[in-house]
Amino acid sequence: MSDCCSAPGLLPFECALENMLSQITPVTQTLTLPISQALNYVLAQDITSPLNVPNHDNSAMDGYAFALESLNQSNTLTMVGRSMAGAPFQGECKLGECIRIMTGAKMPDCCDSVEMQENVQAEADSITFLKEKQFGSHVRKAGEDIKLGQQVLNQGHKLSAVDIGILASLGVSEVTVFRKLTVALIATGDELKLPGQSLDSGDIYESNSFVLRGMLEKLHIDVIDFGVIEDDFEAIKAAFVSADSQADAVISSGGVSVGDADYTKTVLDDLGEIDFWKVAMKPGKPFAFGKLPNSVFFGLPGNPVSAMVTFHQLAIIALTKMQNAEPLKRTNLQVKCVSDLKKSPGRMDFQRGVLSVNELGENVVESTGSQGSGILSSLARANCFIVLTAERGKVQAGEVVTVQLFDQFIH
Ligand code: AMP
Ligand code: MG
Repeated sequence: MSDCCSAPGLLPFECALENMLSQITPVTQTLTLPISQALNYVLAQDITSPLNVPNHDNSAMDGYAFALESLNQSNTLTMVGRSMAGAPFQGECKLGECIRIMTGAKMPDCCDSVEMQENVQAEADSITFLKEKQFGSHVRKAGEDIKLGQQVLNQGHKLSAVDIGILASLGVSEVTVFRKLTVALIATGDELKLPGQSLDSGDIYESNSFVLRGMLEKLHIDVIDFGVIEDDFEAIKAAFVSADSQADAVISSGGVSVGDADYTKTVLDDLGEIDFWKVAMKPGKPFAFGKLPNSVFFGLPGNPVSAMVTFHQLAIIALTKMQNAEPLKRTNLQVKCVSDLKKSPGRMDFQRGVLSVNELGENVVESTGSQGSGILSSLARANCFIVLTAERGKVQAGEVVTVQLFDQFIH
């Protein structure tokens, strides 16, 4: 761990991330699944190709296969048979001869080129070439997509729909993957009511666990939802003990601000080794991380935007490591900002922005407006974060800023 992590005061964002990752142990248990059930699982094996793709030289066109050398003698070749996809030509095709061939059909050994049917004049048993030909044209070579023995996918790769298709095209029927993670979600706060319940004076609807559940499901993680736990020591303790016994990670929102009057911090100090950080990021300063007896714990701030941003920027990175998946690649761009942005030096900002292309064809980003940490609709309207380093001050319209495009976990 670098020195910045033990310095007093605000904890730089990078240090929070580094500190958290150093305490994460990836899962080791694996299972073997049919490929049709393996979508979004993380591969626990490298996949090397058991064959050439395509498996044999084949035609890229509907037309005629022949040996180019034949055209040295005459522009007209005798047709001696046909090769269809799944029903290859069995005979011999000598110089001066050709065969009818369909797209995907196997090339006979004695042919090296294909002419498309539009470019010949066909009679009953001969064809005449209307255009000059080049060696090897319209032939897909065996192994031109994937070669026998080539590494196709690596351990740690999360299987997409296309990857499953590639496995199928290689004839691979099952794969060994890492098991899914389970995360327990806990919302704390006496003011929180579930949608469908009525609100008393001062109450609000609980929304964090709905956002988090959606993002966790997109991460391919099973969720156990503990709902809203009242601000009561015994209730909070019982929920955390139960969550810890069932899940790989426990995620709570609310009640982690330093000086907070509720019991979350007391319970956590009692149960595990938890650090309560003031991370130099905005939104999302209060953030807790540590170990419970059986799981890791992420304590997100209560404000909906803060909860979502700390989950997205910190917790997801740690959960990805825990899944044994390769690190996420996020897309950062440098673009012109067309709004003035408020910012004081000290914390790294993740402001919400809308990236678009202006009438000159340039990428530009505009602020979604008010950046209050309770304004969840600012996230719904945005398509990127405007990421401003801790040292940076306010931004004037026209300056260049870094934007991070929203990934599949947000939208
Ligand atoms: P806290 O960190 O518990 O002081 O909460 C900070 C703010 O976030 C308060 O306004 C809470 O009402 C709000 N809040 C806490 N938890 C949630 C939740 N699960 N859903 C929506 N708002 C919440
Ligand atoms: Mg609270």
